[in-house]
Amino acid sequence: MSDHPREPDVLGVASGVNFAITESPDLDEMLSVVARRVAEAVGVWECNIYEYRPESGALIATALWSPELTACDREWLGTEYSVAQRPSYELLLRERVAREFQVDDPSLGTTDAETMRRWGELSVLSVPLVFQGDVIGALSLVEKRAPRRFSPDDLRLLETLAVPAAAAVHNARMFRREAEQNRRLQALLVASRAMNSTIRLDELLATMVRAAREALDTAEAAINTYDPASDSVTIVAYDPRDPEPGWEQHLGRTYRLIDFPADRGMLLGGEIVEERVSDPDLDERNRQWMIENGEKAFLNVPLIYEGEPMGLLVFIETEKERHFTREERTLAAALGEQAAAAIHRARLFEQTERQNRQLGLLLESTRAISTSVELDEVLAIVARTTAEALGAEQCQIQEYDAVANTVTPVAFWQRYTERPEPDSMHKTFSLADEPEERAFLEAKAVVQQLFSDSDLADTTRTIMEKYGDLSYLNVPLVFGDQSFGVMVLVETRVERLWSDEEIALARALGEQAAVAIEHARLYRRVQDQAITDGLTGLFNHRYFYERLEQEIARARRYGTPVSLLMLDIDDFKAFNDRHGHLAGDAVLREMANVLGSELRAKLDIAARYGGEEFAIILPNTPMAVVAETQMEMDLAGKLTKAGDVDAPPAPGHRHGAEEVAERVRRRVGGTRFTGSDGKRLTRLTMSIGVAVFPYKTSTPEDLVGNADAALYKAKRAGKDRVETYG
Ligand code: GH3
Ligand code: MG
Ligand code: MG
Repeated sequence: MSDHPREPDVLGVASGVNFAITESPDLDEMLSVVARRVAEAVGVWECNIYEYRPESGALIATALWSPELTACDREWLGTEYSVAQRPSYELLLRERVAREFQVDDPSLGTTDAETMRRWGELSVLSVPLVFQGDVIGALSLVEKRAPRRFSPDDLRLLETLAVPAAAAVHNARMFRREAEQNRRLQALLVASRAMNSTIRLDELLATMVRAAREALDTAEAAINTYDPASDSVTIVAYDPRDPEPGWEQHLGRTYRLIDFPADRGMLLGGEIVEERVSDPDLDERNRQWMIENGEKAFLNVPLIYEGEPMGLLVFIETEKERHFTREERTLAAALGEQAAAAIHRARLFEQTERQNRQLGLLLESTRAISTSVELDEVLAIVARTTAEALGAEQCQIQEYDAVANTVTPVAFWQRYTERPEPDSMHKTFSLADEPEERAFLEAKAVVQQLFSDSDLADTTRTIMEKYGDLSYLNVPLVFGDQSFGVMVLVETRVERLWSDEEIALARALGEQAAVAIEHARLYRRVQDQAITDGLTGLFNHRYFYERLEQEIARARRYGTPVSLLMLDIDDFKAFNDRHGHLAGDAVLREMANVLGSELRAKLDIAARYGGEEFAIILPNTPMAVVAETQMEMDLAGKLTKAGDVDAPPAPGHRHGAEEVAERVRRRVGGTRFTGSDGKRLTRLTMSIGVAVFPYKTSTPEDLVGNADAALYKAKRAGKDRVETYG
């Protein structure tokens, strides 16, 4: 061997390396060509090129050449060594001088020796790759066939070739960085486009998480939003590189920060935090979580908007304990900023939407309520619109009677109509055993109840168990000092925790509902006043004629009889003179009760015709009943439903009108009315005239005239008797 036998080779190899750098179509190809040229120039079995990442203190196997490239060798590519694991390399990089390692050299550290043995390396000559003053990698010549002592020439040749090799690594890195930069710009572009085109929060987050994951090329990425009220974090967007079936399950998963204090620190700390499963200072709970989920490294980016923590953007690596570069962290931070702004904007939008929707529903409910005066109808509308405005599953309205200490469920609405209405509807319950419900009815406060509340009253828990309910929001129905009762919003699928905003809305809806209920009650009273007589509570003169017309029309349609009784108290003037007008009024009230008790409730119509005269309409009742027709009438009665305007005639009296009149007369005669001294002493009698439609009548006035004529006949015949017309 001459002194400089390889001088020309050095130039040749160096130019070959440079050629490879400029001509190789592909980065990996280029570095592998460089490795090959160097290995061949020095005449060793193998050449390895490592890239050095100062931010993570790692050496990454970037290129390898040997004449017999095994699967194992290919596997080795990409392996990341911490320089701490390779003390000999650390020295090499720090001192920037070439070093030779022999596998059996006792000065070689155990970890380095082990690594050499694992890969079957006997002798290694390594040189640092320095570019523009920075150590950017290392190049190693490896002998696996037999131990080899490298000569000064080998060393000099290697040092010479290290210069273009460093340039090659640098170029490769630049190319990669540029490609990465493009990918990042692309990701930012996608993210900002998504922000400007999508308004729905879930869609927006899905787009952003995908763009973010692709930008950093991690195995998974997720966006978790933070809810300060419940001190928890919910996975709202998730993107896996290789989606496994059922990956959507991750979405919506909530975890409490009390169980993950390190996450709270990241969320509130505002700093990007990397976590690797083998980091000694990793939070133990997070380590456990990572091990259980097969996760190796996390890059946690806090999402902060105007100083407020909104959540976390999390990059997840499952293959290796990845160290993220400064550029990657900067990009992640930029994506995080975008995501935070997007969440803020989408939330704002959703809130406005929700408020608009709620206002719309409020308006609808107000309109419906103000145009509807029937109490049942008002309650049904209130139950539905309240549940819809608040997105509740069910709404039940319970009427409260403070004096009787009872509640009665009077209205019910539910989203899922396949569920039956609770069996408690329209049943009255005592509150004696339910102090809790009584308490909030008295307090007129909005009260939340959750099945898992430890201080929930047993009675409430029993009711919840019975109906499978998980949460109640009790909203008082209070207007001024009037309390109607309570509106209960029920959830059976989730334990819903209501926000302050929702509770405020519920309270407003409750107040509005109470106004509507009061309005309907008032209307009902006014309605009643319009048709009833103030003194006796019987129907008034106006309503009597209205009903008489209806009954005659029905009788005409079905060809059935209608009877009319006209009643007048005998010598009432004398009674008044003796006992006074007030006692007379009391008698009139008592008389009304007597009449009512002798009639079929809801079928016969008793009215105060005027003064001390009464009128009774007996629908579907002839003057007298013959025995043969009785059974038919009873049967017909069973087949029909009373009260329906278009239904066939109502069941007739057991007896004819004449007999009903006679019975009333006798009852009145047998009643001791209250006198002026307050004692039940005075006897009074009554004269009654009976007429029947259609006998000698065609109009209501005819019928009244006929009955009046019969009454006159009774008076003339000596009073306290029944006379019939015709
Ligand atoms: P008759 O047997 O002929 O019917 O004799 P009567 O005294 O009852 O005569 P009539 O029916 O003509 O008298 C009506 C009397 O009834 C006049 C009045 O004193 C009394 N009356 C009418 N309306 C009221 C009322 O609202 N309250 C009271 N206390 N008395 C009334
Ligand atoms: Mg009279
Ligand atoms: Mg009279």
